[in-house]
Amino acid sequence: MQLDSLVICEECDLIQKKTPLKSGDEELCIRCGYSLYKSKPNGLQYSLVFALTAAVLFLLSNIYPIVTISSQGLNNSTTLLGVVQILYKDDMSLVAILVLVTTFLTPAFEIGALIYLLLPLKFGMVLPGMKLVYRWMHKVRTWVMVEVFMLGLLITITKLSGLAFVVPEIALISFILLMFAIIFASINFDERNFWRQVETLITPQRST
Ligand SMILES: [Zn+2]
Repeated sequence: MQLDSLVICEECDLIQKKTPLKSGDEELCIRCGYSLYKSKPNGLQYSLVFALTAAVLFLLSNIYPIVTISSQGLNNSTTLLGVVQILYKDDMSLVAILVLVTTFLTPAFEIGALIYLLLPLKFGMVLPGMKLVYRWMHKVRTWVMVEVFMLGLLITITKLSGLAFVVPEIALISFILLMFAIIFASINFDERNFWRQVETLITPQRST
């Protein structure tokens, strides 16, 4: 029996044989009924489309101002990165770093990683270092949800300070849509299908 025809249940550790799935079908553990795998037809394509959408939304949410700061009778609009700078200068460097990591670096990496893995695959290619990118994408994923929380925190801080208020315009709307685009991109990422495609490209001469 081939090793790659086996699957292990994450819940009860039972090793069992993979069953060929029709599209949209779900494979359940024969012992505990835990979902082992759900086939997502066109999942990788959807994932790529959402990742590319997220990239555009990411640009929009960073190009347009997200808060307006009133100081000495003057109104200044600033972008997300501008807010990070202001927080940093205002002796809130820890908050500044947290906001930068969760609302800028993490989504940027997640989007970049998805495109790096999926776009070349669409054209039958695998780029160098893809295994490393894949591993890191999984590590970073836990942080992406945190950015929802951080945006809330950011709004609270700026409101509390009485100096700034959030502009409910392009940047904020893009930011909210961006989070949904990233979530949909990762939901549709079909791991088993992804690795099957990668494997056929890396070892095209394999007969099995
Ligand atoms: Zn089980």
